Amino acid sequence: MRAVQYRTPGKGPELVTLPDPVPGPGEVLLKVTAAGICHSDLTLMAAEPGSLSFGLPVTLGHEATGVVAALGPGAGGGDGGGEGWPAVGDTVAVYGAWGCGGCRACAAGRENYCPYAPGQGIHPPGLGAAGALADYLLVPHARHLVSLGGLDPVRAAPLTDAALTPYHAIHASRHKLLPGSTAVVIGVGGLGHLAIQILRALTPARIVALDLTGERLALGRHAGAHHTVTADGDARAALDELTGGLGADVVYDLVASPDTTALAAAVTAADGHIALLGIGTGSVPVAFGATRPGVSVTAPYWGTRQDLLDVLALAREGRISTLTENFTLDQAPLAYQRLRDGTILGRAVVVP
Ligand code: NAD
Ligand code: ZN
Repeated sequence: MRAVQYRTPGKGPELVTLPDPVPGPGEVLLKVTAAGICHSDLTLMAAEPGSLSFGLPVTLGHEATGVVAALGPGAGGGDGGGEGWPAVGDTVAVYGAWGCGGCRACAAGRENYCPYAPGQGIHPPGLGAAGALADYLLVPHARHLVSLGGLDPVRAAPLTDAALTPYHAIHASRHKLLPGSTAVVIGVGGLGHLAIQILRALTPARIVALDLTGERLALGRHAGAHHTVTADGDARAALDELTGGLGADVVYDLVASPDTTALAAAVTAADGHIALLGIGTGSVPVAFGATRPGVSVTAPYWGTRQDLLDVLALAREGRISTLTENFTLDQAPLAYQRLRDGTILGRAVVVP
């Protein structure tokens, strides 16, 4: 099969030919329908050699939908059947935050917080395990699959991360987003344009979106932001004015650079919350006087399995939808280059 791999530090992703995978006991083989291209992959490929928790090469792609092509022995709930278990031909989304499956976090469907996975050599697809930028994806257990229930598989692939990650953060902080509140979204990219729609669907908050260019701010308004602000030196003053000097109740920072985290720290209201979702080098100090009083800060990771079901339900109800630009598998290196250059609006999706 064809696959797009990150093989050599300093070199971009490469299209290679690999043997077709064969599902072992408990495993499910998917024919990949679509795979999203996430900014995290650029961070992974920019990491210092040796700083990754897994070896190279790795097939990229951690946002996937597919069709069940084959079941390994015992993978289908015994004889390939059973309600809720995948059967050959089913169209599914992949829950990518693979955990050990046995611990307290995994039992609660919170495999994104499994403390044992890294130590057991369990990695998400595309982030250590072979990923979805390929003709086939091997999934280690059927519990990682969720039925698409009629959703368009191309626009659904990014829901498994670009929507799931902000959903997880918004769900955890929505008690702060009461009528009259303000939510700020920094970065209207793959995650950001979905974060705005999720805020609209889940909360009555007034939404302010920040980004660098007019085109991205327009996408923010299209996604449902009530106000947009250019992320420049005047952004703090603009946010102060919009909130009457009180600050925003929740800031979702989908960039987390030193600039954006400093802004988040400065514009979050007393008793407010900052969720750092971006994998940048910025941070918000937690100390008396570093922010307004009572501000909490989290750096959440991905989402729970329940969150994924919720996100797919929102999409099925037409309340969120992904803006995609589609690429073929051999165009995947180009898609990464375009993401790096900042010329992808919404999410780039590879359709093998
Ligand atoms: P993206 O490239 O699609 O979007 C990033 C957006 O931020 C772009 O619109 C860009 O113009 C904007 N931006 C850049 N610098 C900015 C600044 N200083 N001020 C305002 N806007 C700015 O990226 P994405 O795929 O949506 O990912 C967003 C971030 O989330 C990345 O850092 C990614 O690694 C991270 N991520 C984290 C998790 C998690 O579990 N925490 C999961 C997925 C992605
Ligand atoms: Zn676990």
